[in-house]
Amino acid sequence: MRKVMNKMNMNWMILALLAVTMTAVAQQSASAPQNPQPVAATQPDQTASQPSQTQSGQAQANLAPPTTMDQVIDRVIAQEKELIKFLSPRTPIVETYLQNLAQDPQLGPIPQNDHYFLGRMDLSESIDRSDFLKSKDEGMERHLLGGFAKKFKFQYQPLGFSWMIFVDRTDFDRQHYNFHYARREFLGDVRCLVFDLTPKKDAGHGRFLGRIWVEDQTFNIVRLNGTYEHPTRNNYYFHMDSWRLNLVPGYWVPSYIYSEEGDFTAGAKNKIAFKAQTRMWGYNLKTATPNDELTNIRVDSVKDSTPTAQDATPLAAEREWQQQAEDNVVERLERAGLLAPAGDVDKILQTVVNNLEITNNIDLPRPVRTRVLTTSPLETFSVGNTIVVSRGLIDVLPDEGSLAMVLSHELAHIVLGHNLGSQYAFNDRMLFSDEATYQNLGFKHIPEEETAADKKAIEMLKASPYAQKLDSAGLFIKALQSRAPQLSALLQAHLGNNITENGMVTRMAALATSAPALDWNKLDQIAALPLGARVKLNPWDDKVEIVKAQPVAITSARDKMPFEVTPFYPRLSRFSTASASAITTTAALPTAATTADASPTPTN
Ligand SMILES: [Zn+2]
Repeated sequence: MRKVMNKMNMNWMILALLAVTMTAVAQQSASAPQNPQPVAATQPDQTASQPSQTQSGQAQANLAPPTTMDQVIDRVIAQEKELIKFLSPRTPIVETYLQNLAQDPQLGPIPQNDHYFLGRMDLSESIDRSDFLKSKDEGMERHLLGGFAKKFKFQYQPLGFSWMIFVDRTDFDRQHYNFHYARREFLGDVRCLVFDLTPKKDAGHGRFLGRIWVEDQTFNIVRLNGTYEHPTRNNYYFHMDSWRLNLVPGYWVPSYIYSEEGDFTAGAKNKIAFKAQTRMWGYNLKTATPNDELTNIRVDSVKDSTPTAQDATPLAAEREWQQQAEDNVVERLERAGLLAPAGDVDKILQTVVNNLEITNNIDLPRPVRTRVLTTSPLETFSVGNTIVVSRGLIDVLPDEGSLAMVLSHELAHIVLGHNLGSQYAFNDRMLFSDEATYQNLGFKHIPEEETAADKKAIEMLKASPYAQKLDSAGLFIKALQSRAPQLSALLQAHLGNNITENGMVTRMAALATSAPALDWNKLDQIAALPLGARVKLNPWDDKVEIVKAQPVAITSARDKMPFEVTPFYPRLSRFSTASASAITTTAALPTAATTADASPTPTN
């Protein structure tokens, strides 16, 4: 069993959380695998302007097709170097969510506790990261050192989960690796050549050991599966399965990494077991152009009924001011990669909000909008008239009734006039680094407003078409309650109010009382879905869409995996302009048991 168990790195981790010093970074590098280390002078111009997306891809495509396996390997190596160069000016967001597992006799390995990391990865000279969650320093340090870490002398490093974005950052070549052709294989729509890679003797520490899948047109690596060899003393590497997507012409962009350790077979030493999902997105943030500003000009929604132009009335001015605050926040979050651009998932959320509004005769001076937060922790908040729901929360909701429950709470805040937040109308308050978002923005309500919003929300739900569907919403709350004590990281809201307090579900908890009994053994009772079950996030442009997949039959209680992390299995396809602008026409959230094209199907 391999794992990152590194006392030296423990130091680094804590210091990094407390804002890194140079020494700490040096320490870290000393024990990281070879590939994320600085490349120094080998690629002198990598910080220069970005290569154009099509140029290099096409340059490669125009080469004569290789005729021998040796030529293929040369192309694979060249393409990997090309990708490293292409990505070097970029700083994607990297999110790792990890669940430590304990064996449950009935349900198999289930989460025992969890960890969450969110940062930006700098892919330039070396691979480095900066974290969004600085305010949690103390908590995380205490938690890691005092709790789990102390018990098992174990330390997770956020960076450790993203090592496998490249095979080998510095030395991916024939001098360091043996390539063994294994076979051809389709991954999704893409025909691949499969190679097993072993480091040469004396290739050094931290070399990749495992399998790569290479698409057979331009010879880009599309998947890596394995670990790193020859760890230094006290240093272990995780096993990883790393996937890339063809999101720009000519390049396959590192998107998902699944890691897993642990052995629950009889007699196995059950010291440490976990599964973790790492997602990368926001690759194109730095180059996101303000082009669409022209189309973003907002037609003022405050109706001015007077025939001649004049100054706003005090009330109209107040509303404009609120609108400005709301727009500032939405734009800032989008720029930080934390909010998906407006899109099709919003339309689904919007439909549910409209249903609630119409049946409750709610007529607001400004329309309610909905947006998706790109992160996994289960949270919602609203700013002005914009309701934001996290990707992770939409993922785990079993049906439209439970989505209505989630949205009704935020709609209630809007209806009750709780959302002021006008301090954000001042633009200086938007000037902070992306990583400092959580320190600079916050939309938490006082407990009295939370209670009032729940009460109002339940009223609205009972008068809506969802009145008959509140059993599933209540069941969802019960399922959440049964797992809440183990999922504190997933339930830690970063911008809005927590759904739970001290391991107890507080949000909309009243709905649980009228719901049927929760029974994991009842196979047709789907109270909550695994993470990744519904929403697909495009790592390049941050757009979200609803996963379209054939439901997979649930055959045992272990298949349900509520709130759990599962392996990634994206259906690979080649870049096409059609797929890039694909439009999901789904009108509403499909009912439960839709397991994704990719993810939450058990693969073993
Ligand atoms: Zn609230």
